[in-house]
Amino acid sequence: MKHAMVIGGSVAGLGVGLALSNKGWRVTVLGSDETPLPPSHREAFETWKRRGSPQTRHSHALLARLRNLICEHAPDLLERLLACGAEELRFTDRAKQLFGNPPGEPGDDEIVSLACRRITFEWVLRRYVLDSGRVEIKDGVDVTGLVAARRGPGDPPRVTGVRIAGPGGERVLDADLVIDASGRRTRLCDWLPEIGTAPVRAESSPCGIFYTSRFYQLRPGVEPPSLDGGLVGVDLGYLKVGIFAGDSRVFSITMAASPQDDPMRSILRRPGFEAAVAGVPLAARWSSPELAEPVTGVHGMAGLTNARRWLVAGGEPLALNFFAVGDAQIHANPITGRGCSLAFVQAFDLADCLEAHADDARDAALAFDACVERNVVPWYHLQVSQDADAVEVGEAQLRGENPFEEKNPDGSNNPKGFMRALLREGLVPALEEDPVLLRAFARTINLLDPPGDLMKNPEVLRRVLDSYGRRAERPPRYDGPTRDEMLARFDAAAAAA
Ligand SMILES: Cc1cc2nc3c(=O)[nH]c(=O)nc-3n(C[C@H](O)[C@H](O)[C@H](O)COP(=O)(O)OP(=O)(O)OC[C@H]3O[C@@H](n4cnc5c(N)ncnc54)[C@H](O)[C@@H]3O)c2cc1C
Repeated sequence: MKHAMVIGGSVAGLGVGLALSNKGWRVTVLGSDETPLPPSHREAFETWKRRGSPQTRHSHALLARLRNLICEHAPDLLERLLACGAEELRFTDRAKQLFGNPPGEPGDDEIVSLACRRITFEWVLRRYVLDSGRVEIKDGVDVTGLVAARRGPGDPPRVTGVRIAGPGGERVLDADLVIDASGRRTRLCDWLPEIGTAPVRAESSPCGIFYTSRFYQLRPGVEPPSLDGGLVGVDLGYLKVGIFAGDSRVFSITMAASPQDDPMRSILRRPGFEAAVAGVPLAARWSSPELAEPVTGVHGMAGLTNARRWLVAGGEPLALNFFAVGDAQIHANPITGRGCSLAFVQAFDLADCLEAHADDARDAALAFDACVERNVVPWYHLQVSQDADAVEVGEAQLRGENPFEEKNPDGSNNPKGFMRALLREGLVPALEEDPVLLRAFARTINLLDPPGDLMKNPEVLRRVLDSYGRRAERPPRYDGPTRDEMLARFDAAAAAA
């Protein structure tokens, strides 16, 4: 039995453990966090210290792509998640609720996301791979580097294990294969050149947001407002607000704003967060005391980036028997909730590539790189361009301009402004009016259709344009205060505090 060593025991590392052990690999997962697994998912939410993955305390959407991979490869894992209070959120239920009984389409049954807290998901996943008996998890182990050998001059380094820090100094752990799943702060750009590879090409750009999340428990017996596919949100331009369904009748509210917008940092503290929640009708409705009570403080997270590292250069792998998955390979703005799903996509792709190229490490590396290019990179590119646009929108609003204008001041067309208006006043309201658009949108945000296809579909575009043409017929919609009004709310909250 071949032995794979995985660096990092979070969602990507555990996903690799699951995928490779399903194919007969013996897997050891090394995690730097030195905290034992709590006895239940409920205690995990209260006590599990995950310093290495601080985002475990934030809202997470678990998309249909992820849920479907679990159904396909580990249906009993899905059973366990449901037994711990996770819920399946079906497009068909939402369509019925909104449109009565609209005609179905093949594939509608695939559009099912999971309402589950990230910590519950990770706890159940970890328990599941441990119970399989094929994966060993070692906590409190910090990997400090790689070990490699070369077969001859010109041969790329072949990774044969990892170096770990221990009380008595460094030790080497041998393996047939090493997978870096150590997250967005991976040190692979140092580790690879240390074993003699060329420098690792890497890029990174700011997401243009910081994040705050707070969790709430629904009171016994109350019915929550409805959720579209597990999350609903509003975008006020200067502030994005989302409601994320969790397991066990827990949900969370997340807000995101620009790090350049200093006064908006008030949402990082409880009085400012509560003032913002109270001012945005969607969030106020969900957090009303009759409906729910907060069960955590306000968690913040900044320094968010879109980043990518290349492990193949000029058509050749930098090293053999070494892979990176999850955030270590590529990560993007968390606001679209794709990280866990794409980490699982990579984990199962990797297992397939290793099986298909069991006798050729180079071919396996190139095949996996092609999978990343095909299945992950297009989502990354989409996010980078959307973030660049969101930054422009935010900056224009701070200057007092309207970034949604179809025309420039000189009367010429403003294609960017038109496209933004088309999405905001054409697509978004039509999601509650048109089952065809809701389906197409739900498939895309759940990673079931390729990115960028939505507005290229002539039928979708026709319907969005039609909806945009009817924008004046809709009653004006109030999503929340202007930025100045929100700042006044922060001042009042600070004075009261
Ligand atoms: C604020 C925020 C919100 C998010 N929301 C969503 C969402 O809604 N939906 C979604 O799907 N995704 C979301 N994501 C992304 C998602 O959390 C990640 O993509 C997912 O957890 C996969 O991460 P990972 O396992 O690659 O890395 P991580 O979760 O960061 O885990 C890396 C692990 O490696 C360990 N480690 C690091 N270095 C070493 C070392 N040298 N030796 C040993 N161990 C090491 C760390 O302790 C850590 O446990 C969000 C991310 C953030 C930041």
